Amino acid sequence: MIAGKRLLEAVRAKTDLPVLYVIFTHGHPDHALGAAAFVDLKPVFVGHSALPDVLASHGDDYLRATQRLIGEANFAGTRIVAPTLLVEGVKELDLGGRKLKLETWPVGHTNADLTVSDEASGVLFLGDLLFSGHIPALDGKLGGWLNNLKKLRERPVRLVIPGHGPASMAWPQAADAQEAYLRRLRDDVGEAIRKGWTLREAAGTAAASERPKWRLFDDFNARNATSAYHELEWE
Ligand SMILES: [Zn+2]
Repeated sequence: MIAGKRLLEAVRAKTDLPVLYVIFTHGHPDHALGAAAFVDLKPVFVGHSALPDVLASHGDDYLRATQRLIGEANFAGTRIVAPTLLVEGVKELDLGGRKLKLETWPVGHTNADLTVSDEASGVLFLGDLLFSGHIPALDGKLGGWLNNLKKLRERPVRLVIPGHGPASMAWPQAADAQEAYLRRLRDDVGEAIRKGWTLREAAGTAAASERPKWRLFDDFNARNATSAYHELEWE
């Protein structure tokens, strides 16, 4: 809730215009749990068609984990707000003289990733399809995420807004570091499987060469490798 309140304050510092839409890029708690701060404004909450299920099945866990992480005062008022305008494929939102293009993606970072582009300015909001600095967190499909990045690279976009990292980044070079990490993870886990290594052995060593490049590497890498192992062992 505190993050949502701050976002709303930042919006209000710029404009008194009505807030018509609140758009979820995916369901992870650090991206979705601020929504309650906007409820009184009665916007339309917008998200991937798979997002209501994600929030129904994981929402309670997200709430508990976030309460522990940010403390009672910052958590107060936080609750799950599910989107009611669901997107599958491409949808345009007309803000009045300005159009936003919403697009859902095949399972990659998660199974409910949605991007937003403002074609007038050439800015693309990538949500957690792009991490910078903070190690990417895989909660979907590694192969899908790499494919999505490949398609995104071809977009004639000037600037992107990453889900973690600086306020904006130049495109497509902003994708280089993350793509290198995801490829290294895929190659190392694939090799471990070919060598007959156990999940534990693979998770302990995969993408180790990337450790110096990312914050929170030790919090997420083994989990990423575990997810990649389950995905790749069937290929
Ligand atoms: Zn995320």
